[in-house]
Amino acid sequence: MDDCLFCKIVAGEIPADVVHTTERTVAFRDLNPQAPTHVLVVPRQHFANAAELAAGDPVASAELVTTAAAVATAEGHPDDYRLVFNTGAGAGQTVFHTHLHVLGGRDLGWPPG
Ligand code: 5GP
Ligand code: ZN
Repeated sequence: MDDCLFCKIVAGEIPADVVHTTERTVAFRDLNPQAPTHVLVVPRQHFANAAELAAGDPVASAELVTTAAAVATAEGHPDDYRLVFNTGAGAGQTVFHTHLHVLGGRDLGWPPG
């Protein structure tokens, strides 16, 4: 996608603080972190949301989750982290290249509000 922010980060055209990469994913720190660990894991290939990714590339979909676990381990909290897919503008999705938020490093309340 020519006009997609996260496609440009994957391509290295826009700088990002990349913390982990795999064959199908790139993980980088969120620009506006909501917790000490706030990393976004994205598929290298463009899909608008998590359901389209799961339908179109289930291997990459699973790799998002295993990458997120590797990030949580590398950040020092392997057993305590939250994974979030915001899906749709009404749920807070602002970038329409699916991304898995990995949050941790502090107590995370539930429900999130
Ligand atoms: P969403 O609201 O779509 O679930 O999440 C988008 C996330 O991308 C937000 O948490 C926002 O802070 C982050 N973000 C937006 N623009 C950039 C950027 O240029 N670089 C990085 N690293 N994160 C960004
Ligand atoms: Zn994209």
